[in-house]
Amino acid sequence: MPEQLTPSPARGLHIITWGCQMNVYDSARMADVLRPLGYSPVDSPDHADMIILNTCHIRERAAEKVFSELGRLRQIREARKLEGKQTLIAVAGCVAQAEGKELLARAPYVDLVLGPQTYHRLPEMVARIARAGGSVIDTDFPVESKFDLLPEDAAPQNEGNLTAFLTIQEGCDKFCSFCVVPYTRGAETSRPVASILAEAERLVASGVKEITLLGQNVNAFHGEWQDGIASLPELASLLHERIPALKRLRYVTSHPRDMEQALINAHRDNPIFMPYLHLPVQSGSDKVLKAMNRSHTADEYRDIIRKLRAARPDIALTSDFIVGHPGETDEDFEATMQLVRDVRFASAYSFKYSQRPGTPAAGQPFQVAEDVKEKRLAALQALLREQQDAFNASLIGTVQDILVTGIGRKPGQLNGRSPYLQPVHFEGDPALIGQIVKVHITTPFTNSLGGHLSKQEGTTI
Ligand code: SAM
Ligand code: SF4
Repeated sequence: MPEQLTPSPARGLHIITWGCQMNVYDSARMADVLRPLGYSPVDSPDHADMIILNTCHIRERAAEKVFSELGRLRQIREARKLEGKQTLIAVAGCVAQAEGKELLARAPYVDLVLGPQTYHRLPEMVARIARAGGSVIDTDFPVESKFDLLPEDAAPQNEGNLTAFLTIQEGCDKFCSFCVVPYTRGAETSRPVASILAEAERLVASGVKEITLLGQNVNAFHGEWQDGIASLPELASLLHERIPALKRLRYVTSHPRDMEQALINAHRDNPIFMPYLHLPVQSGSDKVLKAMNRSHTADEYRDIIRKLRAARPDIALTSDFIVGHPGETDEDFEATMQLVRDVRFASAYSFKYSQRPGTPAAGQPFQVAEDVKEKRLAALQALLREQQDAFNASLIGTVQDILVTGIGRKPGQLNGRSPYLQPVHFEGDPALIGQIVKVHITTPFTNSLGGHLSKQEGTTI
């Protein structure tokens, strides 16, 4: 039985976040809703009155990983109890949504289990535990939208408060054969534009220069606006027109099927769109794409890339790949390699297919053997690495606009972010933090670039 909470003016909150950018955003919002109760972030779970494990269910052994982490948190809680301190343990996110009851059965010392759609109810749940003890589980898909009920002081999430994520769309109706998202995050919904603009204004007023709009299918966005509906390019125009201090805009993750011409044109016409797009393709084989229920062919994907490059020649493309989907042959895998050679990516994520219980592909025959998946993944990653190195090398000798995000590790060094999302290191005055400066790129590192401030021009803002 969990300990009773005693009112406390200052309580430590430690959130462990696994998974995608949306989980990073959700963790920040959970901190926002708990702030009025006196919770503020602490760096270590050892000093936390409440620990939240925000989980991801996308790939294998998700539940195992959660139980092993919970074992560690339980020990921390026991040690704190010996010192007379109380600790609430909460599990949030997609594993909580998918395995809520089993989770409590296997780890009864967990106090709260909540899904991605109910974290606005956290204060209520904490109060219920304080009143009556026991555990609380809330994995509903409530009728009320959490976005209408979140506090209005959304905090930026990273890089010296200069960059932030902003969720504009959630859930997915596409039902790809391999994916748990439609089951854990629910049906596709878009936030009303007015609420997005208000949140973006607050973020920019607090110093944010670059926003990444988030959604499981962000380019399917269709949010209420005045008497109608706004699409993603329309939302981007509104953000540009109404918030002049917002300098950079990105969005993730997009589906090829929703990559409409108006959005492609916006990459040419809207100056705050960065020349960068993450557009997952998963496979280059039409047979596998069909089995995955992706609803486009490899050539349709190539065609979208061609249109994007026509609209914005300097656009850098990244993607997601799955190797070893059930039924994938050597020939299918070669089609994926060919697509990669044809498109040339600036970077990409690639994964071995992992059977997710309850998804259509999990029950299909012709599962691919583990050693075959491993071989294919290694070959794909080697090719993608070559392309990433080539992309980074192509920037040597160019001058790039870099958002200065903070102090570097070496004395006198600054860190920044390129238009293509690469970390960039160069020497400069810390007074430049928060500005966009011209940097002459000189050195490619494995996952970043080195350079020096360009003499040709000063800062751009
Ligand atoms: N909505 C995005 C899209 O349509 O591509 C992707 C969302 S998912 C959170 C991120 C990536 O995880 C996917 O693009 C896919 O490559 C990978 N992924 C999802 N389910 C997977 C599975 N069962 N096995 C391996 N990788 C998976
Ligand atoms: Fe999952 Fe993306 Fe497919 Fe939706 S579109 S089911 S989120 S992979």
